[in-house]
Amino acid sequence: MIANPPAVDVDALVARFSQLYDGAPDGVWAAPGRVNLIGEHTDYNGGFVLPIALQQHTVAVVRRREDAVVRVASVQVDDGRPVTVDLDDVAPGGSFGWAAYVVGVGWAARQRDLPVKGLDIVLASNVPTGAGLSSSAALSCGTARAWSDLMDWQLAKESIADLGRDAENHIAGAPTGLMDQLASVCGRAGQAMQIDTRAVTITHLPFELRDSRLSLLVIDSHTAHTHADGEYVQRRRACQEAAEQLGVEQLRDVPLAGLEQTLAPLSSLLRRRARHVVTDSARVEQVAALLQDGGDVRRIGPLLNDSHASMRDDFDITAPSVDALQRAAVDAGAYGARMTGGGFGGCVIALVDKDQCDAIAVACATAAAAGGFPAPTAFVAEAGDGAGRLR
Ligand code: ADP
Ligand code: MG
Repeated sequence: MIANPPAVDVDALVARFSQLYDGAPDGVWAAPGRVNLIGEHTDYNGGFVLPIALQQHTVAVVRRREDAVVRVASVQVDDGRPVTVDLDDVAPGGSFGWAAYVVGVGWAARQRDLPVKGLDIVLASNVPTGAGLSSSAALSCGTARAWSDLMDWQLAKESIADLGRDAENHIAGAPTGLMDQLASVCGRAGQAMQIDTRAVTITHLPFELRDSRLSLLVIDSHTAHTHADGEYVQRRRACQEAAEQLGVEQLRDVPLAGLEQTLAPLSSLLRRRARHVVTDSARVEQVAALLQDGGDVRRIGPLLNDSHASMRDDFDITAPSVDALQRAAVDAGAYGARMTGGGFGGCVIALVDKDQCDAIAVACATAAAAGGFPAPTAFVAEAGDGAGRLR
């Protein structure tokens, strides 16, 4: 039932590079996907998020060129054939397909007046794509890390993440906050990151489950909402409107104490949207406090469940398939479970006893079948390291 994605074969990827482009690469870089433990849609409201970087990652074999051309091949798409893009042609509004996440980094670097030469790249990933696990950030941040190292940009990690976000926002046209990229760049094995998205500060917290015989199960619903981008934009707008009506810069500025009273003047829709953001950001702080004192990780379970209910009932970003998986996981004995990622499908995470992983995955599969939803797949997540050079 539990099937961890197979590792990327780095040797085969290097061989593929030489086959496609002749000669040897300059190096090999990798950047991970991420799972957000709690704090959803809080990042663009200046609130808190709490992701871990995954051990699943995108691996990029790269060589610097002397012109401004990028050739990039992904073994996952177009039968691994390279796409060629001149950086002079890259601008917002262009259509570069999946290569936007790569060439967009070059565009973002040029915006900052960094010296930018072209690259030859072959990449492969074992981060499931479009599942809310940030395969996109693994791609954009892996590229940014490699480009920075090859051009000696000497950037802080936060700036690498910024390049990735700009590529996603402006060239790929995906209006994400900064969480995905920060998690992919700044992750550490065995640790979670509490990110204050307004101050852009990261507090690393212990998140090593093996000692406590727990596992973090990631259950992929294999459902994705085709209008997710439009819904995302609507949520962002609603949050902005709520903040304006409340007279604050961002929903981050709304205190948890007396929340119902503070939100009372809003329409019922905006009240629900704002309540999700304020309470989920507060739940991040509660989970962080529990992890910080090194206590029993099981205690975060109820907060995961509350977060799911808030996403389902107040923010309206879950989907029947993920609701069914979340409920099945909890009914089968998970300490807590919630959808992770932007929503409308994607994955559910569940905190479970290590020896219960299979049973809970089976319960989820049974629930999905009963509901007429696609068969889910599951893997066990562990906190991994952020973007870096492998060779
Ligand atoms: P998520 O980041 O949750 O996986 P997104 O929709 O943000 O979902 O990003 C998925 C997109 O990122 C894919 O549709 C594709 O354009 C691009 N992408 C991610 N990984 C790869 C890869 N290994 N090869 C080519 N494109 C990729
Ligand atoms: Mg993404």
